[in-house]
Amino acid sequence: MSHSLVTMSYIIATILFILSLSGLSNPESSRRGNYYGILGMAIAIIATALSGSVTAYGMLILTVLVGGSIGAFAAAKVAMTQMPELVAIMHSLVGLAAVLVGFATFMDNSIHIEGVEKTIHEIEIYAGILIGAVTFSGSVIAFCKLSEKISGKPLLLPARHWLNFILLVAAIALGFIYLNQIEIGEGSLPMLMMEGSGSVPLVLMTIIALFFGVHMVMAIGGADMPVVVSMLNSYSGWAAAATGFMLGNDLLIVTGALVGSSGAILSYIMCHAMNRNFFSVIAGGFGGGTSGEAAVVEGEVQPINAEETAQLLLSAKSIMIIPGYGMAVAQAQHTVNDISKLLREKGKKVRFGIHPVAGRMPGHMNVLLAEAKVPYDIVFEMDEINEDFPNVDVSIVIGANDIVNPSALDDPNSPIAGMPVLECWKGGTTIVLKRSMASGYAGVGNPLFVLENTRMLFGDANASMQAVLKALQG
Ligand code: NDP
Repeated sequence: MSHSLVTMSYIIATILFILSLSGLSNPESSRRGNYYGILGMAIAIIATALSGSVTAYGMLILTVLVGGSIGAFAAAKVAMTQMPELVAIMHSLVGLAAVLVGFATFMDNSIHIEGVEKTIHEIEIYAGILIGAVTFSGSVIAFCKLSEKISGKPLLLPARHWLNFILLVAAIALGFIYLNQIEIGEGSLPMLMMEGSGSVPLVLMTIIALFFGVHMVMAIGGADMPVVVSMLNSYSGWAAAATGFMLGNDLLIVTGALVGSSGAILSYIMCHAMNRNFFSVIAGGFGGGTSGEAAVVEGEVQPINAEETAQLLLSAKSIMIIPGYGMAVAQAQHTVNDISKLLREKGKKVRFGIHPVAGRMPGHMNVLLAEAKVPYDIVFEMDEINEDFPNVDVSIVIGANDIVNPSALDDPNSPIAGMPVLECWKGGTTIVLKRSMASGYAGVGNPLFVLENTRMLFGDANASMQAVLKALQG
């Protein structure tokens, strides 16, 4: 393939990636966005394979087959509830790839460049490995936290900010040693490190970066995980861009920058949604540092059964459905859609209220509702409907907990203090569907469950919704 044809293919792929991102920003166009992405990636892979930079075609085909099969198997097997973990582990692979490409480029003796160009190339390698290692270890910890293999509680080491600062200074100092730019005495430790053309400082920096990734994500508390997920998404983009610089591949640079910047914007949106300061979240322990203990929830819950729930819904004019992580676990979205359809046919005003961090990944609820074919015009973001709860007769909370917790607003000691929540208790009656009195992801009690106008419909959300549907039809 001629050079100009490769360049042309890369430009087309870039345009398709931009169209893909813009398509994915809206549920209605997201399917189209995915197709653009698939097409762009196919063009990118074919153009790169035929660009002349690849010689070992046997190895390429073998790795594509092995990697592609693992990816296809994982995607087909993964349950919707495990999607956030899958995304986290995928991010870790981008980071690992950047580290491996970095070391491979470092050891490549065939590159002969001098002067400024050589320095820039060395900086690319150093920065690529640094970002890649932080992304890799941070994403592995995020995977463990999201899959509940380790506790979601923030690990707050004493003087952790100092520790981070020292790690940063060490990484910069090692960078200088690596670039051979400082005067050092013969026989000193730095001198020894310089022997071997910078490999020792590079390895030491990698260890520091790996430790930093672990420490950073370990220090972030349960309810702040959405920010971590989107932040690591952004890091994986920058790691890919760094890989693009190392390999001299323009398309990888552009694609990495697209992912990096869109992840950064998503992190900002998540922080805004949770009323968190981005730097406080990254510094770790936000919410864990509150002065006292969160208040213990006391009071009697009032259970309700499916028939009574159906009666309440039939007597209501305005109904708000609030889905949460439990709806994903129970896969109740289809039954919920059937109920909402039936109630709308009976002339009720039915709306869905979506909290930005509901579920376990950004847009989780929107994906489920789109899958169940809930019309987009009755699905509202929290900011659009939160003021309207006093006009709502019945709210049904389906497997949600943290996102409807009033203590976020009135208990300054709560780990989720300050996070905006869906204020359903301001409406007529709230019906909460869950299996037990267990807490949500943030691990805090929820006073909503014992309020006078709250009823608890215990059981698996899908089973409960099916019973309510039957009662409504009966
Ligand atoms: P929560 O985790 O707060 O609550 C979910 C509730 O669902 C639980 O209390 C559970 O109670 C119930 N549940 C689980 N399975 C079922 C079932 N089969 N049937 C009925 N109920 C069920 O979820 P929310 O959506 O309210 O809040 C999301 C939380 O996750 C926030 O803290 C957010 O910060 C965090 N998070 C969000 C991410 C994102 O990107 N959106 C990423 C990482 C974390 P029970 O066991 O009693 O049934």
